[in-house]
Amino acid sequence: MHEMSLAIGVLQIVEDAARERHFRRVRSVFLEIGELAAVEPEAMRFCFDAVVRGTLAEGAVLNVIEVAGEGLCFNCNRTVPLAARYDPCPACGGYPVQATGGTEMRVKELEVE
Ligand SMILES: [Zn+2]
Repeated sequence: MHEMSLAIGVLQIVEDAARERHFRRVRSVFLEIGELAAVEPEAMRFCFDAVVRGTLAEGAVLNVIEVAGEGLCFNCNRTVPLAARYDPCPACGGYPVQATGGTEMRVKELEVE
């Protein structure tokens, strides 16, 4: 489950932010997960809860913001919604569609005290 290492990465971002901005507790983490990022939001929540135990983010709520996938079709040259990498273009049925949006996971915001 690669979500475990991703959750550790999120915790590191939170801890770095805590050092920089001098807060001591995190109440919630807003995490953007792209539809094409190959991250399972439920698994991410589970791993996050496990990883933050005993840290400044213990008990923090993980708010997952799902970002829709988007791609550029090389056949019809349109930007189209893309549910999965290597799917054909929903507009013309052609290939290839290069993923241009919803490919990443990132910490968007922290609610701290
Ligand atoms: Zn197309």
